[in-house]
Amino acid sequence: MTEILKGKPVADQLKEEIKERVRALQGRNLQPKLTVVRIGANPNDISYEKGILKNCGNLGIETEVIERPQEVTTEEMVELLESLNADDAVSGVLLFRPVPRHVDEEVLRNALDPDKDVDCMNPRNLARVFESDFSRLVPATPMAAMKVMEHYGIELEGKTVAVVNRSLVFGRPIAMMLLSKNATPIICHSRTKDLTEVTKNADVVIVAMGRYASVGKDYVTEDSIVIDVGVSEGADGKVGGDADFEALQDYVKMITPVPGGVGSVTTTILLEQVVKACELKHA
Ligand code: NAP
Repeated sequence: MTEILKGKPVADQLKEEIKERVRALQGRNLQPKLTVVRIGANPNDISYEKGILKNCGNLGIETEVIERPQEVTTEEMVELLESLNADDAVSGVLLFRPVPRHVDEEVLRNALDPDKDVDCMNPRNLARVFESDFSRLVPATPMAAMKVMEHYGIELEGKTVAVVNRSLVFGRPIAMMLLSKNATPIICHSRTKDLTEVTKNADVVIVAMGRYASVGKDYVTEDSIVIDVGVSEGADGKVGGDADFEALQDYVKMITPVPGGVGSVTTTILLEQVVKACELKHA
């Protein structure tokens, strides 16, 4: 029988741990604080922001939202990030991206203090991950996928893991995390030959293509563990993952649902990083 790996129990456990860590910091008169920086008022950003603020409130993390108009310049944004870098009360900063076209995102990525960069956008934080240093701030989505596997006792040592994604935000950093667990990651992409053979021969298949319900039985075996990171909309407007969940939910060994899987852990990891940033600053 297929085990459905839901994200909520993972997020709930993480939240309990975060609350304890916040209490410990408060006991030392330290208060973790997240500053959200938003350019314009995109409804998706606002709805994501609402969720973050609510979760922070529940966990005892202070928040602040700074909104800048759509016409803001790169220089003004750099000035803002530098003032947040210098502000001792701010533990972590989350800049909503993508930024408007006329703003140079590359400059902003480098302007934010790596030790406040809870979304891991500064290349210096990614460089640490590529040196197998996970002690500071790390990218949230790959870490969320790792936490889901850890929570459900998926042993990675010696296992072959096919990752269908080679982006800097997901495929490449998770390969480093998998290596640190002594797994053998195989990074796949749109030019991979015989992709279904690669995935069928892997113990764990992690998909993050953004191609709705495209991973069916031809990609897996009955022993496969499927971690679905993709989030996209089907023709009917329904949100789902890369896996054809209907087809796989009674077939593979384990599978994460979408929604309700890895995505529900990602925001919690982001908030955990605010606490981690505060702890590191005052270590
Ligand atoms: P991306 O940069 O577009 O990467 C997609 C990857 O999938 C690329 O490496 C691409 O290969 C590969 N790919 C696409 N079609 C393929 C095919 N037919 N066969 C094999 N490989 C294929 O996207 P991303 O930003 O990494 O995000 C990927 C997905 O994760 C999206 O659905 C996004 O919504 C989701 N996501 C989820 C979370 C979460 O918390 N769950 C967070 C962030 C993103 P090439 O490199 O060759 O183009």
